[in-house]
Amino acid sequence: MPYCHVPWTNIDISPKGDISPCCKFLNYRYEYLVSNITRNTIEEYLESPTLKDVKRDFLKDRWPKGCDRCRIEEENNIESRRLSDEKRYKEYLDNHRNNGFISASIAFGNTCNLTCIICDAGSSSRWHDEYKKIYKVDIRPNHFYKDQFVDNFISFSPNLKHLDIPGGEPMLSGVPQQKQLLKYYIDNNKAHDISLHYFTNCTIFPDDEWLSLWQYFKQIEIQLSIDGVRERFEYLRYPGNWIEVEQNAIKYKQLASTMPNLKLSISTTVSAYNIGYLDEVIDWALENNYDAPWLGRLHNPIHLRCTVWRVDAKRHLLGKLRYGDHRRIYKPFVSYIERDDDSQHFETFRYNLLRHDNYRKLSFAKTFPEMFEFLRDRK
Ligand code: SF4
Ligand code: SF4
Repeated sequence: MPYCHVPWTNIDISPKGDISPCCKFLNYRYEYLVSNITRNTIEEYLESPTLKDVKRDFLKDRWPKGCDRCRIEEENNIESRRLSDEKRYKEYLDNHRNNGFISASIAFGNTCNLTCIICDAGSSSRWHDEYKKIYKVDIRPNHFYKDQFVDNFISFSPNLKHLDIPGGEPMLSGVPQQKQLLKYYIDNNKAHDISLHYFTNCTIFPDDEWLSLWQYFKQIEIQLSIDGVRERFEYLRYPGNWIEVEQNAIKYKQLASTMPNLKLSISTTVSAYNIGYLDEVIDWALENNYDAPWLGRLHNPIHLRCTVWRVDAKRHLLGKLRYGDHRRIYKPFVSYIERDDDSQHFETFRYNLLRHDNYRKLSFAKTFPEMFEFLRDRK
């Protein structure tokens, strides 16, 4: 029986403002206009035909068409978000249909200071000019939502237990609104029961005001997004400065030694760009007393997947990954590259890579010399 409580207990607001039940949900499968927090209130989202359809499907024991990701994962014996949330929030689920949101993921806009090569103008305001020039698409920076958003959210989440705050960059996006929300939970004696999870690019270290607010919460998890080190970091997360990021990562470690509710982790998005260089990120993390990074597979756009390389590059990559120093950590990527082939998109990868290099005055050839050999035209 595919019942999922998430449409009743969780809300997901993307950097573009699109609202859905969760980050796995496929909004585009629905013909109705997607709710967007720049146009709609949370009440309007709760009354939207899409959400009503989803709830109706679950109440009739049917998989909604927007839930294919969970369905497919479960058919392949992978723990889906539906199942992991059920475990995680088990103790809070009695009468959950009447208790408002237990968890939420809110990107407080898309303000960001980087143009990571795996990102786009919808998620980062800094991408705007480059995106418009190269792709001829004008995606305006998404400044913060309607004035009453925070009050509106609070009224629907009196029993909140967990809040994810992704980017843009959370230290830059909707900061006054974020602090207003945190202060509400502190002033109303709820913070001790709530965990917060930030995804940061680690270019900005939180100021004293953040730290004084965080001390009241049950847990603060900070996930540092680091896809490469030194010159490769600066290429992948342009125009980030590696020395500043490394110093901030060290400062976070020092902070954790005095702040018992702070939990740190590193997240590495594995794409066509960095698949050949995972050992150096893992080495750096371990040398700096972090656990090995969580390795996330980039799915979209397809031409940036690590499976986009042609057969000669894949042979080279498999040799590295099968026998590399940290092969146990990235083992799943060996079977992924063996099994999947997206090389029909290789020309798109190469074409866009060269266009971005040209725009940014960067050089894949100099920064990733080993993989550049496989980018060349074949004779
Ligand atoms: S089944 Fe999965 S995709 Fe659908 S609402 Fe639940 S968690 Fe989200
Ligand atoms: S830091 Fe995050 S939001 Fe900003 S460009 Fe990078 S991936 Fe996109």
